[in-house]
Amino acid sequence: MGRLLVLVLLAVVAVWLIRRALRAPTNSTEVPKKTEDLVRCAHCGVHLPRAEAHAAAGALYCSDQHAQLGPGKR
Ligand SMILES: [Zn+2]
Repeated sequence: MGRLLVLVLLAVVAVWLIRRALRAPTNSTEVPKKTEDLVRCAHCGVHLPRAEAHAAAGALYCSDQHAQLGPGKR
């Protein structure tokens, strides 16, 4: 009876190890690194990197033209 108990325990441990290995995320390869956050033009609503945005009057715009035009209606 002792051998059967050991076998059952081994089976449970094996299943647990396999499930844990399957569930473990592979962080090493796929880490989507966010390089830049996107901002929204206050006039036309287009998204662009923050570095390319034009700031005016507390809002961000995609171009100098839209910065002069001001916030859009939507
Ligand atoms: Zn715009």
